[in-house]
Formats: sequence, C-alpha cells, structure tokens
Amino acid sequence: MRVLVLLGAPGAGKGTQAHILARHLGLPRVATGDLFRAAVREGTPLGTAAQAYMERGELVPDEITVGMLLERLAADDAARGAILDGFPRTRSQAAALDRALAERGAAVEAALYVDVPADELLARLSGRWLCEAAGHTYHETAYPPRVPGICDVDGSRLVQRDDDRPEVVRARLEKQLGALAEVVEHYRAAGILQAVDGRRPIAAVTNDLLDSIEPVPYWRTHP
Ligand code: ADP
Ligand code: ADP
Repeated sequence: MRVLVLLGAPGAGKGTQAHILARHLGLPRVATGDLFRAAVREGTPLGTAAQAYMERGELVPDEITVGMLLERLAADDAARGAILDGFPRTRSQAAALDRALAERGAAVEAALYVDVPADELLARLSGRWLCEAAGHTYHETAYPPRVPGICDVDGSRLVQRDDDRPEVVRARLEKQLGALAEVVEHYRAAGILQAVDGRRPIAAVTNDLLDSIEPVPYWRTHP
C-alpha cells in the first residue's frame, strides 16, 4: 500500500498537485475538503456538523474528520494506496493515520510539503476557480482555463468556493497555520518529510515532488 501525504497552507497548491500526482502514480486522490463539501451538498448529518466550522475557517474537529477519512481509505479503490490531500491537518490526525496504517502493516511513505509564503496565499485563493465535477483547479490570472468558466479536463462548470472570500481566507490562515507547523514537525521527526518550493510554476513543483519520492515500477500501480 502506497500512502503519500500532501501538506501545505490553504492555497499552497495541494489540490492542483494531488490531481496531477494521482494521475501519474495511478492512485486515487482523497481530499477531506472535497468529502466535507459533498456531505454539505447532500445535507448529511456529517455535512451539517462540518459546515459551521468550514464557514468560520476553522478546522473541523478530529472526532468527525478522522472517522470520515478512515472510512474513505477502507474503500476498494484505495486498497493499493492513496494521495491524501488536506489530511492530516493536526498532530492527532497524523497519529491516528499512523495507527490505522500500522494495523494494515503499512505506513505513510512520504509527506510532501508544498511550501508557499503566507503573503502569496491570499492572492491564490481569491482567484481560485474549481470545476463542479471533480474539483480541478484554475486561477483567474495565473492558470485560466482554455474556455472561460469551463473545465479543460471534463467540461464541467467552474465555480468559486464560499470560503475563498477574503474574510474567511484570513480566518483560515490565522487558525490553521499553527496546526500545519505541528504536522510538518511530526513528519520531519519521522524522517519522511520532503519540502518543495511551492512558488515555482505548477509543472516545476510537480517535477520536484516526483523527484522527491521513490520511483515505483509501473506494474505495481497498474497490476
Ligand atoms: P484548502 O484547499 O483551502 O486547503 P480544503 O478544501 O482542504 O481547503 O478544506 C476546506 C475546509 O474543510 C477547511 O478550511 C476545514 O474547515 C475543513 N477541512 C478539510 N480537511 C480537514 C481536516 N483534515 N481537518 C479538519 N478540517 C478539515
Ligand atoms: P490548495 O489545495 O493547497 O488549497 P489549490 O491547488 O487549490 O491549493 O491552488 C490554489 C490556487 O493557486 C488555485 O487557483 C491554483 O490554480 C493556484 N496555483 C496552484 N499552484 C500554483 C503555482 N505553482 N503557482 C501559481 N498558482 C498556483
């Protein structure tokens, strides 16, 4: 089982890179933010519980988040592993993931930290557009779609997230960066942290990330 974790501040480019790595490595992208947004849309009890935290830019409590993520990881398509995008975001989530993987005789292979300075994050998030179908990411000025308002990959409509309004973005940065630093430390201490400079163009960041992980033969991800 091959589990890679993508770490970064809100807007650092985790989602963008997770989509690309998932395709390259033949692994599913598992994004807790997407799981929460789907639950909110469907009006499930989990969605109702998460929504207020998300609107305030706060982390959803670990009791809710960890169970949801582990349930997703138990699905058939994640049997060979996954690219985790947006999880873990607290030290206790990182510990819960370590324990759950250890029970399956597995471990996180690498924690890939996309490092972007705080002053750039606001500009990235306020210009972010996502496709409705799969959350493919675009940026108004830096990475616009070929046809305005339409996803290059799957043709679905592009939308902006409610929590990308400047006041919520500021709250997210204020409330989440401390926990991110702790998670980065968790993986540094475990000796599996790989940090890359996230200010470079998307393709350069992807190359740095791929260089920092062990190549796995194609037949292992496409049996
Ligand atoms: P971003 O792309 O800005 O990093 P995400 O889509 O990953 O944001 O997450 C959106 C929101 O969902 C977060 O601000 C938080 O409220 C909640 N969330 C997502 N993942 C987690 C997690 N692992 N722990 C707690 N809350 C989470
Ligand atoms: P995260 O998932 O970490 O919150 P996203 O992948 O959604 O971040 O990216 C946030 C915004 O920044 C999007 O509008 C995306 O198009 C843009 N972006 C992603 N990577 C880069 C990059 N290397 N340089 C400039 N903009 C980027």
